[in-house]
Amino acid sequence: MDSNTEIKTLQHFIGGRWVDAEDGAAFDVLNPLDDSLYARAAKGTSGDMRNAVAAAKSAFPEYRETLPKDRERWLLRAAEIMEGRKSELIDCLIDEIGSPIQKAMFEFEKGLTMVRAAAGMCRNVRGETIPSDAPGKFSMSIREPLGVVAIITPFNVPLIKTTRLAANALAVGNTVAHLPSEMAPHLTVLFAGIVAEAGFPAGSYNVVSGYGREIGDDLTGHKDVDFVAFTGSTVVGQHINEVCARNKTPNTLELGGKSPTVILADADLDQVVPLAARSIFMFAGQACIGSSRFYVERPLYDEFVKRFAMVASRIGMGDLRDPDTVIAPIISDRQRTRVKHHIADAVGKGATLVAGGEWDGNRCQPTLLTGVTEEMTVCKTETFGPVTSIYPIDSYEEGLEKANDTEYGLSSAIFTKDIDKAFHFARNIGAGMCHINGPTIHDEAHVPFGGNGESGVGREGTDADMEAMTELKWVTVQL
Ligand code: NAD
Repeated sequence: MDSNTEIKTLQHFIGGRWVDAEDGAAFDVLNPLDDSLYARAAKGTSGDMRNAVAAAKSAFPEYRETLPKDRERWLLRAAEIMEGRKSELIDCLIDEIGSPIQKAMFEFEKGLTMVRAAAGMCRNVRGETIPSDAPGKFSMSIREPLGVVAIITPFNVPLIKTTRLAANALAVGNTVAHLPSEMAPHLTVLFAGIVAEAGFPAGSYNVVSGYGREIGDDLTGHKDVDFVAFTGSTVVGQHINEVCARNKTPNTLELGGKSPTVILADADLDQVVPLAARSIFMFAGQACIGSSRFYVERPLYDEFVKRFAMVASRIGMGDLRDPDTVIAPIISDRQRTRVKHHIADAVGKGATLVAGGEWDGNRCQPTLLTGVTEEMTVCKTETFGPVTSIYPIDSYEEGLEKANDTEYGLSSAIFTKDIDKAFHFARNIGAGMCHINGPTIHDEAHVPFGGNGESGVGREGTDADMEAMTELKWVTVQL
């Protein structure tokens, strides 16, 4: 399969129309594999952002009255159209953000599931009847959409995040203004075309491409925005939280991570090593739930390091369209500098490179470090690259303590046959998600996905978004 080398021109989608930036400006979107030009995208201005919010606000009164059966039909139709455009979406995931085809296929299937699962929400926007102490009073709660939902998505899983957040918001009757990552606008633009073709009313879903640092506040600080769903880095999430506070706009923040995996002495390394590799090297570690810390009980430590290094050194770094390729390019110059710094700083301060550390173009080899200490940046800071540290532990208790020694709290994993320790870990790890005998990387449409501390606020998923993106109203009738 060859990529389509034609340079794409991307527009905003506002009020059901494709439009350029109001001042006609555009920006370059680069293919991270070789920094070649992939697309020219409309460079959103504050005015464009305000227009998108205005379109969503004016569409809301009619959209909230649409019937569940219609929203359900539009969502299921969107999923069908996605299937018909599978190769276009996959090509976009490969050439816009450098996804190896395996990751692109995985993301496509997840995205499809997100849209279908959202269709199931339409008929479940429910309140309840409430007993009343007042004689003759019939009391109930009704669940209502909030209004305009602002969505801001990252570069690394643009299809999963776009489909989940947009579909869930639309399913429960909200309208949407979406600012995708400046490094992945095409994917969201493709989704906007799918939403339009599926029959969603004009103005219900709006997309403005551009730089979040320039126009993000025009979205998150807009008084007509009723909810903000943000996924991205912790530093930007903190800023958005502060901006939202000015208007008391509720928000969910899905942020960075430093997710630990604890491996106890009774674990089966044949099972664990391939999963360990998957949990950090998928998409070259550019996954919020990637495991960037491994704590291994001493009896297994040497063998684990040896086997993990062997697997790491054999991981595919070939053509992105070859199913054996796992390692993706690192998305941008800024990120490459960060990954290089984390490795060089650790090695310079005495860590041992047991695998990787070298680069091939914009791709970093799968990299394993031992002997990592707290003075090294890589120890506690998110790298967002194919780099992980392996530490020996002398007991389960030490593993739990070290796993919890972080300001993040996104995903976590433990490998053991001891059910008591496994559940103790699940109950006591300060993370939003815990996988027993499975990798830290796992997501499904209907689970409460999210983190604590520096990893975020709130949860995503069909049930969680039903709660977050709607509000209960108390209604009584005096009979
Ligand atoms: P980023 O924070 O640089 O950018 C994310 C989005 O925020 C982009 O759309 C960007 O344009 C926008 N943005 C930037 N400044 C803004 C502002 N002032 N106001 C509003 N929006 C603004 O993150 P990234 O590099 O695209 O993604 C990587 C990060 O995302 C990592 O830290 C990763 O852990 C995190 N992430 C978290 C999850 C999760 O579910 N917890 C999932 C994927 C990625």
